[in-house]
Amino acid sequence: MNTFVIIKSIVDLIAVLLLALGIKGLSKVRSAREANQLAAFAMLLAVIGVLIDFLGSSGISFVAWGWIILGSLVGGLLGMVTAKRVPMTAMPETVALFNGCGGMSSLLVAIGVALYPVTQAQETGGITSLVESVSIAASVFVGAITFTGSIIAMAKLQGWLSTPAWMQSRIRHAVNIGFAVISFIAIIQLFTGGNSGLWLLVIGAGLLGIGVTLPIGGADMPVVISLLNSYSGVAAAAAGFVVGSQLLIVAGAMVGAAGLILTQVMCKGMNRSLISVLFGGALGAGSTSSSKESTEYTNITSCSVEECALTLEAAEKVVIVPGYGLAVAQAQHTLREVTRALEASGINVTYAIHPVAGRMPGHMNVLLAEADVPYEQLKEMEIINPEFPATDVVLILGANDVVNPQAKTDSTSPLYGMPVLDVHEARTVFVVKRGMSAGYSGIKNDLFDLPNTSMVFGDAKKVLSDLLVELKELGIGGKG
Ligand code: NDP
Repeated sequence: MNTFVIIKSIVDLIAVLLLALGIKGLSKVRSAREANQLAAFAMLLAVIGVLIDFLGSSGISFVAWGWIILGSLVGGLLGMVTAKRVPMTAMPETVALFNGCGGMSSLLVAIGVALYPVTQAQETGGITSLVESVSIAASVFVGAITFTGSIIAMAKLQGWLSTPAWMQSRIRHAVNIGFAVISFIAIIQLFTGGNSGLWLLVIGAGLLGIGVTLPIGGADMPVVISLLNSYSGVAAAAAGFVVGSQLLIVAGAMVGAAGLILTQVMCKGMNRSLISVLFGGALGAGSTSSSKESTEYTNITSCSVEECALTLEAAEKVVIVPGYGLAVAQAQHTLREVTRALEASGINVTYAIHPVAGRMPGHMNVLLAEADVPYEQLKEMEIINPEFPATDVVLILGANDVVNPQAKTDSTSPLYGMPVLDVHEARTVFVVKRGMSAGYSGIKNDLFDLPNTSMVFGDAKKVLSDLLVELKELGIGGKG
């Protein structure tokens, strides 16, 4: 065996092992940063492996090496700048965009190989050619769906796009079946008549990606993002078959499997069926805009920070509910100062963590970890829900959808079926937010109308700073 082939195989093996370790490490907040660096290093090794491969097959080809190195540098630089600049609250959009890039890469690789066959089998036909045709069809189909679906998801998350009315009706199923049929016909053409079906498949699958993602909104969006992540892995694995790269097949399969497991976990947490999300959302929830002012409220009670401090002073058990607004306000450190003051006065403080609070899985865990909140104080929804009836005060900070009782009581609500935090069962509930804007799902929150709920209007950071001053005035956590 050629020395270069042996070296490349060893480099590939190390890259795969490091990638697997990286994915494993991502499952824990503490190890996630190092795991991410490990996975990035694995990708660098993969590129080095390709360069070694070229060295073995065609000697030092400066043109080929130049393109690979240039592409890696440009892509790496773009990724680094984006990752450094993007705020945590915009992470799902970024993940959606990166998934889309993954899908597009697999799509382009497959189109390239279809148009310019690289192996003899592709040119002459035969079993190998059939395998490659299947791989090309799979790579184009899944890659195109991933690309267009991810771009739509990103636009919806950014609030640039909302679901058109007809997409919320059942007509969308007929339209999507139409796109699926077009894709199927295109695949048959691809098998029988060479490349004539290629562009039809790109169009059919691309439209299908738009058709299944556009109706999705509200509580289903996090599930879709992880599903698209899984698709990007499947597309990469298919592209691996197309170019005969074992590394790409294994890496793509790992990403696909990890994404699918996360999707299943999210579906379970959100009480959603994977099938309904796969086929364009059971809900068809509308706009993702969070700027809507709702005028439907009839029984809103608001109170001052001082009243909130007085109630907290008298409490024995307090539950903090962090949400997207806390991340927007970047108030996690001020929150920690407030909870330290409460704890110093013997008040029991815990944090209720909803699986989709914020804008990415684990968002609240990461946010609170930044402020050194002890892990033991974070309680998941199933653990904390039975504790609310015995809770004196719930302090909701920029959370909305995840505490909306409509999810349990109103079968017509887009949130219906999603498990929520049962905060309304506590004695007193304070909701800190700037106004009456809806949450991500764009709907009214029945919690705000309940008699035991008081709104404390203001930016979360400002309210918490004022609260800290008031608590110190009351002698909570030491005199100010
Ligand atoms: P929501 O998006 O439901 O609500 C956030 C609230 O924060 C808004 O009502 C807003 O009201 C308030 N807010 C915004 N800025 C501030 C600020 N500076 N200070 C105080 N309040 C502020 O958040 P939740 O965390 O409750 O729910 C998450 C939602 O996001 C769910 O619907 C989930 O499905 C969705 N989602 C989750 C993803 C995930 O993976 N976690 C990914 C994609 C979507 P106001 O403007 O009046 O202040």
